[in-house]
Amino acid sequence: MSLKKINELATKLGSVNIMEVCGGHTNSIIRNGIRDAMPKNINLISGPGCPVCVTTQKEIDEMINLALNGVPVATYADMIRVPGTKMSLEEARENGADIKAVYSATEVLDDKNRVFFGIGFETTTPMTAKLLENDIAVYSAHKLIPPGLLALSTDKRVNIDALILPGHVAVIIGEQEFPDLNVPQVITGFEPENILESIKIILDQLVEGKKEIVNNYKGVVTKTGNGKAQKIINENFKVVDSDWRGLGTIPSSGLEPKDDNLNAKIKYKDILGKTITKELPGCRCAEVIIGQIRPSECQLFGKVCTPKNPRGACMVSEEGACQIYHANRN
Ligand code: SF4
Repeated sequence: MSLKKINELATKLGSVNIMEVCGGHTNSIIRNGIRDAMPKNINLISGPGCPVCVTTQKEIDEMINLALNGVPVATYADMIRVPGTKMSLEEARENGADIKAVYSATEVLDDKNRVFFGIGFETTTPMTAKLLENDIAVYSAHKLIPPGLLALSTDKRVNIDALILPGHVAVIIGEQEFPDLNVPQVITGFEPENILESIKIILDQLVEGKKEIVNNYKGVVTKTGNGKAQKIINENFKVVDSDWRGLGTIPSSGLEPKDDNLNAKIKYKDILGKTITKELPGCRCAEVIIGQIRPSECQLFGKVCTPKNPRGACMVSEEGACQIYHANRN
């Protein structure tokens, strides 16, 4: 039903670029054939919503350096496979470093000597905040979606006519936290029919010249979000400028522990200061993240860079555009 309406509306429009911010949406869109089902003038572009992907090379290399210098660390299982300048965390572990891969931050709640490498957006931050509450040191690479969207909307390299907003982040921050970007924006769940409905809402708005934020994940996302999660984040983190892979430094877009004693970047600054880092040769993940190129436009895609042997962050996680495109290529 939505697809029929999408086709009708598309005939009234020129070329339209719709960015799905969240890697979960990219996954559902590609896996369910939604991108291929779109009319020719409706382009669905992957955005920066993969936590592993937007974490910078420097942040990854600093954690590897910390672990190689004898500090026990822990992070999410995906992250340990991301290539660093010289090796990944997984390879550092093979070289004797004490690195624990977890599926939830709470797995290290009793591990007071370990530094947790916190990555991701508002969805994973409350669990890292719980660690800080329990006096566990954190190296924070956490990022905030609203300032990230603002930066994207003013980035001259990308041309976005509308956004499919991340449902999971919206559950935490609420409908009201998304900034007005002067384009249609629709908060969306992950079922294919919900995504198609959101695309229809966007095209409807474009036909009518509207630029509104619509909540199409009702019953799950509220106006004000999850107050309990917001409270634990605000009590344990402060907002700082942050570097994003692909987008550079974005003002007030990151989080650091409020307590300097639990901030691994301060606690271990002498070790971290000696980290050698450089971008990985040939990897175009930074351009993939902002939708400037599709994964298949990278020369390494599917040849030397595969999910088994990733050459960049975007080929590691199930939310990474390169991994998703590779897994679903015909
Ligand atoms: Fe980087 Fe691999 Fe993606 Fe190319 S295919 S951009 S090397 S992650």
